[in-house]
Amino acid sequence: MEIVDSSDLPSHRLRQIEQVLDPEPVFPGTLSDWLSRVAHYYHHPIGEVFSAALPIALRRGHPLSPGQPKVYRLTEEGKTARPNLASAPLQQRIWRSLNTENWLSPERLSRLGHSWKRAVNVLVEKGWVEIKVQPTAGIEFSGYSIDLSPEQTRAADAILDALGSYRSFVLFGITGSGKTEVYFRVIREVIERGQQILFLVPEIALTPQLVKRFEDHVGRSLSVIHSELPAGERHRNWAAAREGRAAIVLGTRSAVFTPLLKPGLIIIDEEHDLSFKQQDGLRYHARDIAVFRAKLEDVPVVLGSATPSFESMSNVQKERYDILRLNSRALGARLPDIEFIDMRRVPVHHGLSRPLVKAIEYRLEAREQSLVFMNRRGYAPVLYCAACGWQAQCLHCDTRMVFHKRENSLRCHHCGYIQIASMSCPACAGTEMLPLGEGTQRLETHLRELFPDARIVRIDRDSTRRKGELAHKLTQGATGAADILIGTQLLSKGHHFPKVTLVGIIDADQGLYSVDFRATEYLFQQIIQVAGRAGRADSPGQVLIQTVHPEHPHFELLREHDYEGFTALAMNERSLAQAPPFSHFILIRAEATKPGMGLCFLGQARNIAAAVENELRTGIEIMEPVPSPMEKRAGRYRAQLLLSGRNRTAVHRFLDSLVAQLDAHRLARNVRWSIDVDPMEMY
Ligand code: ADP
Ligand code: ZN
Ligand code: ZN
Repeated sequence: MEIVDSSDLPSHRLRQIEQVLDPEPVFPGTLSDWLSRVAHYYHHPIGEVFSAALPIALRRGHPLSPGQPKVYRLTEEGKTARPNLASAPLQQRIWRSLNTENWLSPERLSRLGHSWKRAVNVLVEKGWVEIKVQPTAGIEFSGYSIDLSPEQTRAADAILDALGSYRSFVLFGITGSGKTEVYFRVIREVIERGQQILFLVPEIALTPQLVKRFEDHVGRSLSVIHSELPAGERHRNWAAAREGRAAIVLGTRSAVFTPLLKPGLIIIDEEHDLSFKQQDGLRYHARDIAVFRAKLEDVPVVLGSATPSFESMSNVQKERYDILRLNSRALGARLPDIEFIDMRRVPVHHGLSRPLVKAIEYRLEAREQSLVFMNRRGYAPVLYCAACGWQAQCLHCDTRMVFHKRENSLRCHHCGYIQIASMSCPACAGTEMLPLGEGTQRLETHLRELFPDARIVRIDRDSTRRKGELAHKLTQGATGAADILIGTQLLSKGHHFPKVTLVGIIDADQGLYSVDFRATEYLFQQIIQVAGRAGRADSPGQVLIQTVHPEHPHFELLREHDYEGFTALAMNERSLAQAPPFSHFILIRAEATKPGMGLCFLGQARNIAAAVENELRTGIEIMEPVPSPMEKRAGRYRAQLLLSGRNRTAVHRFLDSLVAQLDAHRLARNVRWSIDVDPMEMY
């Protein structure tokens, strides 16, 4: 990180340099500084922070630049020959694409067909195609243009005015209001100024439509970076960003670390999404450190969402962030009507209420799409014995095994443990084993029984394990090739399904009375996001929510799509409870294979913390260590200790001292412990 003449460390702890990998620093000065601050903020070892920030290839010692990537293009002969390839369809597709696109990267070619390599090699042998080093892409804007609404224009102008220095914006636009078009307008301007954009999204696999939209707008100047990308491609894209060859870096959480030669703007789309928070190792929140980065690099940052996080809303209240509102849907589409179905008052069959079934039937007749949302995959959450009440329990976790009927297996959704579902009870040998409760698989079965002719597509982690399966199913949703979509939260994120006019939400009550203080925030965000899939085009939408608490005050606000009203109400509750964003939480977790060890360590940690607080008087509140809500998980016993403080600087002063002492503690070697600054999940 720096070069010095001498070291404070004793010489036996110093190592020889074996080889100098790179002639220049991997991260330019500002980013190095930023990473050091990130390390301090999360109280995480600096080496691990830098390592987490590097693409895998660099971590393994590959040189900084992977060399110029190869591309394919037609030779003069290939252009004029107009070869007859009718008997070789893949070669024909490749030839056609090369003819229209000038040149193609291996990644683009691989999308044309599985055996693209063989096919393109044949073309090379025939002298029609040549391999070249990729030219540094000039930006090619497509002819695409769209007239922004006055609201969209105002938002875009506000951001454009801020280009050139740091400023934070919350782009609060209802679902379907055209946030993405606002981004594109601003992006174009930034690119024209010769600067780069960092664009973060929750999950890349979920946004094939977005990638497509980017390609339509700005063609090849896009570098996509996410964890599922092969290491080599990731390295190339990373280097292209660092060397200023890529105008836009589009990526998930970890892309926040990508260096940019000429940063101009940072955009976080769906900023409220939980997947921006890393849940192990360096537990950073990509949104938070992105704002931090924007400050250091002196560029504006835009946080977009239909349901902004309370953290961001509170920053708006404190006038740290500016809020930009998009209150209406593009092209005059209306927000869907939201209605509640009181499950205590209507006939219910297999978890489906009569009114919801009727509504689906009506859409089928009208040839419109329905989306049924349920956030629990599998067939049934419990398999139990009718004779003695025995329930399948995970051997390694304090949780029940979920019954998956198609594979006749029991799976633990927490540690992945799988068992065959036995036909007889292990406790009493009774043979009547019954599924209890509902999961998406079971929902699919019921809907198939009810509507045997409907085209039903289920989208959850189980039904999309194979590569390309998710993209395929989402396309079926988008093009209307499915009548009923069933899905978990995978379906709720930012997709555009123009033909969906009905959204049914099966189990809205989960989360109304949860132990997690953020549960209502998440629930509300999720329902608004799912509901937002309905009626995005010309046909109006309807949302039916099944609940046993239709009178709940939060639901009243939901009916009116009043997210700000809800935020005000729920933030008031937070404020009374002195929970974030009105205080800063730190969660220390400890786990060990022996019961009680983690708790014991945290008991000691508590005492040390009390002593530190006594000395520093930072106003930190120290709770009692407790076993985690799910104490046993994946064979380890877990415990946690919560600290809370009002003042950020004081919290860090306190942690500096505490973490140093815990690191040196003898028990720290026998447990696995970690520190989570601003935890998003309280278990
Ligand atoms: P959001 O990201 O806010 O959910 P999108 O940007 O995906 O919304 O916009 C929803 C749909 O409306 C898209 O199909 C988009 O192309 C279209 N759209 C957005 N703004 C406009 C506009 N000004 N004129 C015409 N169509 C628009
Ligand atoms: Zn039994
Ligand atoms: Zn388990």
